[in-house]
Amino acid sequence: MDFEEIREQEHKNIMQTYGRFPVALVSGHGATAVDCAGKEYIDFTSGIGVNSLGYCDEAWVRAVAEQAGRLQHISNLYYSPVQTRLAETLCGLTGFSKVFFGNSGAEANECAIKLARKYGTETYGPDRNEIVTLRNSFHGRTVTTLAATGQDGFHRHFTPFTEGFVYAGPDLKSVCAAAGKNTCAVMIELIQGEGGVLPLSPAFVKELDYFCRERDILLLVDEVQTGVGRTGELYCCRHYDLMPDVLTSAKGLGGGLPIGACLCGERLASVMDAGSHGSTFGGNPVACAGAQAVLERVGDEAFLAGVVKKGEILAAKLGEMEEIDFVRGMGLMLGAKPKKGGAAEIAKACVGNGLLVLTAKDMLRFLPPLTISQEELEKGLRILQKTLQSFA
Ligand SMILES: *Cc1c(COP(=O)(O)O)cnc(C)c1O
Repeated sequence: MDFEEIREQEHKNIMQTYGRFPVALVSGHGATAVDCAGKEYIDFTSGIGVNSLGYCDEAWVRAVAEQAGRLQHISNLYYSPVQTRLAETLCGLTGFSKVFFGNSGAEANECAIKLARKYGTETYGPDRNEIVTLRNSFHGRTVTTLAATGQDGFHRHFTPFTEGFVYAGPDLKSVCAAAGKNTCAVMIELIQGEGGVLPLSPAFVKELDYFCRERDILLLVDEVQTGVGRTGELYCCRHYDLMPDVLTSAKGLGGGLPIGACLCGERLASVMDAGSHGSTFGGNPVACAGAQAVLERVGDEAFLAGVVKKGEILAAKLGEMEEIDFVRGMGLMLGAKPKKGGAAEIAKACVGNGLLVLTAKDMLRFLPPLTISQEELEKGLRILQKTLQSFA
């Protein structure tokens, strides 16, 4: 099928919820994607931070294919050694002691929200159910995680929302004003991804951690985008020297398969008890086998040092470009503000020139596979430079 036929088919039978770039991708290798006409693209997106090991990583493909050929799914009524092994690996690498597996970032956050409310109401009474989230945040697309998302643009339809979310700015004074005796948790992204690749200040995170601890308010950290090596540490919390009460992970965890995880420490280990939560596909063996292969690679210190190195190169090269105003972010989660042209138009022009990039607000956003080669990185940067020059 050629592109026009695919586009027509999409238009005819798929709900028109996405603004898509005019390209249909059919295969890939490393950090290079290939479209239906055989044209190649350097991929600085990883499918929005999902393909941690790039396209068709050999060890990942082997792990997933072997598991698919052995046992593709069992319900959570039975034990799965693939699931238990992944839980042990994840807890061992992070220092948390319990995990709940779902299928997406939104579901991981739903679990975190349920856990916080159950803890708050069981410990302090039925009114202790409010959660403070930050303005400009993004926590997912379900009705509850949309309510948690502190951006008016996401609140236009779909009312009534889940009650009990209060929004604050990224400073302690604002959180203080938003929190009260009914606050059971504060939920944050350490780097707001969809919000424009905006890191929180370490001083604020430190103060917030102390503030929450003093009041037994749970600190929930949404690492759906920042997690799994993306920022140069296995989880971004390490950059902030932070051990939150609850951490959520998804996107890059499965290396391309849907999986989400909600992690907590020993103190909260038994809050979510029998019957309090569940998911048909949660902890699916094929997804777990993929995640295991990802963690075995990304959990390694030398691998993470490589991510830091590549992040420094990417940030430095972006910073040197005339057409870029400033660069921010960490590791291989970077945003660059173009001086001329809108981010969306530039991203579209990049696709035409053979480079896939993301946007977030008015920023160009870069989330390349963690395994991207020096050669692919440089090729992508050359295409970006050329594209930016056409807007000058
Ligand atoms: C993408 C994202 C989500 C939502 O994840 P889904 O898998 O799309 O449900 C939640 N939080 C953050 C920070 C994200 O970047």
